[in-house]
Amino acid sequence: MSVGERDLDFDREALREKYRIERDKRLREDGEAQYLELKGRWAKFVDEDPYVEPGFTREPVAAEVDVAIIGGGFSGMLAAARLQERGITDIKIIEAGGDFGGTWYWNRYPGAQCDIDSYCYLPLLEELNFVPKEKYSFSDEIFEHSQRIGHAYGLYERTLFQTRVRAIEWDQASSRWQLRTNHDDRLRARFVVMALGSASRPKLPGIPGIDEFEGVAFHTSRWDYGYTGGNLHGGMTGLADQRVAIIGTGATGIQAIPRVAQYAQHLYVFQRTPSSVDLRRNAPTDPEWAASLPPGWQRERRENFGAIAIGHSVEKDLVDDSWTRIFRDVLTVPKTGRRYSNEEKAELLELGDFRKMEEIRRRVDETVMDSATAEALKPWYRQMCKRPTFNDEYLPAFNRENVTLVDVSASKGVERITSRGVVANGVEYEVDCIVYASGFEIATDFRRRVDMAIEGRDGVSLFDHWADGWKTLHGFSSRGFPNWFYIGVSQNAFSTNMTAMFDDQSQHIAYIVDETLRRGHATVEPAQDAQDAWVAEIVGMQAANRSFMESCTPGYYNNEGSPRSAVFGGYTKGINAFNQMLEDWRDAGDLKGMEFDRP
Ligand code: NDP
Repeated sequence: MSVGERDLDFDREALREKYRIERDKRLREDGEAQYLELKGRWAKFVDEDPYVEPGFTREPVAAEVDVAIIGGGFSGMLAAARLQERGITDIKIIEAGGDFGGTWYWNRYPGAQCDIDSYCYLPLLEELNFVPKEKYSFSDEIFEHSQRIGHAYGLYERTLFQTRVRAIEWDQASSRWQLRTNHDDRLRARFVVMALGSASRPKLPGIPGIDEFEGVAFHTSRWDYGYTGGNLHGGMTGLADQRVAIIGTGATGIQAIPRVAQYAQHLYVFQRTPSSVDLRRNAPTDPEWAASLPPGWQRERRENFGAIAIGHSVEKDLVDDSWTRIFRDVLTVPKTGRRYSNEEKAELLELGDFRKMEEIRRRVDETVMDSATAEALKPWYRQMCKRPTFNDEYLPAFNRENVTLVDVSASKGVERITSRGVVANGVEYEVDCIVYASGFEIATDFRRRVDMAIEGRDGVSLFDHWADGWKTLHGFSSRGFPNWFYIGVSQNAFSTNMTAMFDDQSQHIAYIVDETLRRGHATVEPAQDAQDAWVAEIVGMQAANRSFMESCTPGYYNNEGSPRSAVFGGYTKGINAFNQMLEDWRDAGDLKGMEFDRP
């Protein structure tokens, strides 16, 4: 009898087999190629901005700055804020949207909300003396907060909005980056910070016939309120006589579906893989608590969250929500005073996972009245195979008479789209509108995700340079690309609380830029040996994670079922350990591993 087996009230082997069958059912040979890249005739799904007046034009801008920041979402704003704190103010931000906010500018779909504790998630709360009004902020409050940052740090006057960078090229002679944009601007910069966001390019499923549909169709990140009426909080009266299809049941779908269900004449939800839907339990901020917060509270809270996320025990779980409960139940080996072998630890974690997922599945049974619908809504995979979701209105929506769940797992997705609707399991569902809740280019090939040319020394393309794996020092910079920095998920530590991670990265990049300027150097980039050593360290960390990911149901977490090679991995010891390592590196003051003024 293995560890923990005695109180196991379900069959471990049978569950493993069930998970395997459910994964295999959804595996597709075309992997990420099943998704449409939104270029050419599909570009309108990215380029059309429903939140600004159409037809924006302006004269080209010619400028030279110290730092060009590509992207005005939280990562770009944080980079600008942290650079300014160090006195570097000659900055230009280039942003595709009509305002700041990035994810929270574009994602205004009904019910759009951040499912991370807002006191951890919204950046610069202490700096701006602001506490969000709820534990989980809706999209509009987060968007307003990004505007607050823009005003407080004087970023509006430093930003070109509604502008997309098409290419950046390193000019060796002048040691400057040259940036080309869709408005023919002539921008030059000593440093470039890429702050593109991790979910900024929508993708569509490559369903046969997708361009034949004659009704209304849009992606969730370009919600057409002109058609639906209302706003993210409701009032979508335009849907009263409309039949709506939503394709996709990830973190976005589960937030939008209950709202659309309230207003549509009929809603068809096309689901390939059910999400794990946990409790939300939002609550207003207690003003007394907010007033009692001591200096340094936000960093302490973030670090507490980061420690729990990596399975460390903490004295007090400050966030104490469904996320941290998952981390505690699924990623933390229970403390019993006994020492466990690695195999025993793996078994205990698997046991905790099975229990957690049984709880998720039980809630489906307890909530959804129709048993066939309930069965289809149950997720059969380990908790962290897909992004967990949290919502208290999603499951009850399936008890409404105007909502139909259509399980498309047997055909590995929706079969076909026609001029009149959506075909699944041989049935044509006639609809007036199709909403694609089909996600973003999050972990697809870098060339797909980053829609611009990047040429470093000697005209080498970053995409060719990284074709067989990322080559970075600490995930931020790459040899051959002087004065170039990347904020995001690369060979660095990941945090579910992404804005905290962006802030930490921004502070580090601001330090390197500042030191380079202060010491009078023209260029900075990783030395070859330091970069090689970092890549080797990252590769060495991936073994355990890989076999787990291979066992998972397909999705963007595991490159649709075939995890990428270890060079595309991250720093697995957690965000706090990573930050400590960077802090020690900065404290040493010698910028070890960076090379200045490489000839
Ligand atoms: P996802 O990529 O998570 O989900 C896309 C959905 O589309 C999946 O359900 C997918 O099914 C489905 N799909 C794709 N192709 C087909 C097809 N051919 N037929 C039927 N269904 C199909 O995108 P989301 O926009 O939901 O979420 C993206 C990420 O954005 C999240 O993972 C999260 O990181 C972030 N997010 C965060 C929120 C927050 O609160 N902080 C809120 C919303 C999003 P399958 O699973 O089978 O591939």
